Amino acid sequence: MKIGFIGLGNMGAPMAANLAQAGHDVTGFDVAGTTAEGVAQADTINAAATGMDVVITMLPNGAILRDVAAQIIPLMSKGACFIDCSTVDVDSARAVAQDAEKAGILAVDAPVSGGVGGASGGTLTFMAGGSADAFAKAEPLFDIMGQKAVHCGAAGAGQAAKICNNMILGATMIATCEAFALADKLGLERQKMFDVVSTSSGYSWSMNAYCPAPGVGPQSPADNDYKPGFAAELMLKDLGLSQQAAETADADTPMGQLALSLYKTFVEDEGGKGRDFSAMLPRFSKRGRG
Ligand code: NAD
Repeated sequence: MKIGFIGLGNMGAPMAANLAQAGHDVTGFDVAGTTAEGVAQADTINAAATGMDVVITMLPNGAILRDVAAQIIPLMSKGACFIDCSTVDVDSARAVAQDAEKAGILAVDAPVSGGVGGASGGTLTFMAGGSADAFAKAEPLFDIMGQKAVHCGAAGAGQAAKICNNMILGATMIATCEAFALADKLGLERQKMFDVVSTSSGYSWSMNAYCPAPGVGPQSPADNDYKPGFAAELMLKDLGLSQQAAETADADTPMGQLALSLYKTFVEDEGGKGRDFSAMLPRFSKRGRG
């Protein structure tokens, strides 16, 4: 397939390289002039959209996605497929899909989980929203860039799944970290805490697979001085999107709201920027109730 790939950042560059390595004819464009292995570099965004069977975007946010979509949709051929893999607000995902469909283009919102390691290794999980036809066209490409793709429903459903998952993750990581900090103060060894909780009803992915306590559980960013992994500022972004969606949908999400406010303080005022989101544990350890 002829594929245009717009946004060759930390995630986009290795995803585009994997498509090229699988034998697709990939042309990439990034405003920063970044490139990817095996990918032809376009000088303009037009050259990465015109005449392509599929255009994939991997961009920072919904405003940039809307801007890029407005530029490329008029250039794309009828029947071509527009796959957005960025994490953006549900409203932007739906608006872009609607514009694409009006122009006779198949649209899929397909945010990912798995981070830069998953992008490089081709092991991402895709959560997709869009029509059955659009998903069918995109699926073989998801199989190259990832290990699992779930068709979640109509346009916007992929973004909805992503932000709901990450709202659970943010709140659960905070609960796990504050419980470790309490256990410390109660004189409970961290290893014992892990042994009990990881096999009891408090278990979770945060505890069992990504334990925030160094030297406990499987290898995680905590064992590497909290280098990300999944950076606290990316968690903050996703929690912001979840609360934006909750507001639009009139959903009551007090835990998500509190998680957002704690990560905001952590990132903006407490040195959390550039650290893994599990570095909430040393943050809680330093604090008392006051
Ligand atoms: P990044 O900032 O490294 O990459 C984004 C790229 O888009 C940059 O290279 C930038 O120059 C380019 N860009 C910006 N405006 C553009 C435009 N108008 N036209 C063309 N290119 C443009 O970010 P990333 O880490 O690659 O993340 C991309 C998306 O994936 C984000 O939405 C992020 O939330 C999501 N995501 C990231 C991770 C992660 O671990 N990094 C994990 C899951 C999802």
